[in-house]
Amino acid sequence: MAATQFKGIRRYYIRKIHDVLHQLHQKEQHLLRLEAETSILNSQVRKIKEEVQLLQDPGSYSHVGLVRQVIDKHMVLVRIVGEGMHVVDVDENIDVIELKPSTRVALRRRSYTIHAILQIKIDPVVKLSKVQNNPECTYDMIGGLDEQIKELKEVIELPIRHPELFELLGIAEPKGVLLYGPPGTGKTLLARAVAHHAKCSFVHISATKLAQKYIGVGAKMVRELFLLARKYAPCIIFMDEIDSIGSARVQSGGGTDSEVQRTMLELLSQLDGFEASSNIKVMIATNRIDILDQALLRPGRIDRKIKFPNPTEQSRWEIMKIHSRKMNLRHRVDLKRIVEKMNGASGAEIKAVCTEAGMFALRERRVHVMQEDFEMAVGKVMKKETEKNISLQKFFY
Ligand code: ATP
Repeated sequence: MAATQFKGIRRYYIRKIHDVLHQLHQKEQHLLRLEAETSILNSQVRKIKEEVQLLQDPGSYSHVGLVRQVIDKHMVLVRIVGEGMHVVDVDENIDVIELKPSTRVALRRRSYTIHAILQIKIDPVVKLSKVQNNPECTYDMIGGLDEQIKELKEVIELPIRHPELFELLGIAEPKGVLLYGPPGTGKTLLARAVAHHAKCSFVHISATKLAQKYIGVGAKMVRELFLLARKYAPCIIFMDEIDSIGSARVQSGGGTDSEVQRTMLELLSQLDGFEASSNIKVMIATNRIDILDQALLRPGRIDRKIKFPNPTEQSRWEIMKIHSRKMNLRHRVDLKRIVEKMNGASGAEIKAVCTEAGMFALRERRVHVMQEDFEMAVGKVMKKETEKNISLQKFFY
């Protein structure tokens, strides 16, 4: 008896040591990541300080401009802030190849010669919209969306990975795609997975952040978003809740609405302005396709639409299998019976049921999850949903 108890305690401590070592390893990795980020930020601070110094030097720089077009090796068309367009010379120490459209440059006071390339100035909100390099999300983490995955592979992944195929065929690459459907049906999840498989960066921003009330701020943020995407190309821009700026009901009646419309116009002009082959793809998502401005969906802009409906029973089962993959389930747990009771549930609700079932087990100090836990979890999650619908109905009637 004592020997088995001893064995049990020993096993317990060995597992505990493994857990602690694993946590230690993760913390070390995190520290390394933070150190790398700090050094990148430090070098950015250094560059900005140098830039400020340059701009404060009265003898050399007094104009800042944006490159519009490189005419030849020595001449560039620049829009100078507050002065309009100028064709200017380029100093010998500048490599003209680096002067892409929208590059910020410093110009000499009298001769207007381009003398230095400045950092891109990007709004903190846009910057914080997070550029993820190759996000950790794969197709096998997604259940029941095979058709949508197939379509996105063709429209987004293939052109990024093999642009030469489109060139050979002589057809234009799609610029972007609209994902629409009820909340929690996997639109964001799939967008991130496409970025992972296409091996590109992923910029995620909620369009509500672009709906700014101050004049020109939203439009400027849209421009900066595309600048950021160019910097990190190949890149997917994912704009959630696009109806907050792209709604046809926003009339130009002055105030905030006209500002929102200006932001939308800037988005349309950016969509028209970038080359389909520039390795930037735009994915927009909404729950309200019915109110979306058709101008966004015109050919040459976002001309593909992919529907994300609530999952069918078979799909719900596949999603449930994915989210319960790592759970310690009792042998007799029948997930099929659980999903039968979840008519109309979204992927997010199925995930919530798995988490809730785990919580019920935890409350009873069990380390395995049973059928009853899942049944109670379905009751809880689906009840919340019905309450939400009832309160919404009250709102409408
Ligand atoms: P919203 O319109 O509210 O932004 P969404 O459609 O973008 O919602 P997601 O954010 O992608 O929904 O989904 C929320 C969570 O639900 C995901 O992180 C994922 O865990 C789960 N989920 C949703 N759909 C699926 C699915 N088909 N397969 C696996 N998990 C899913």
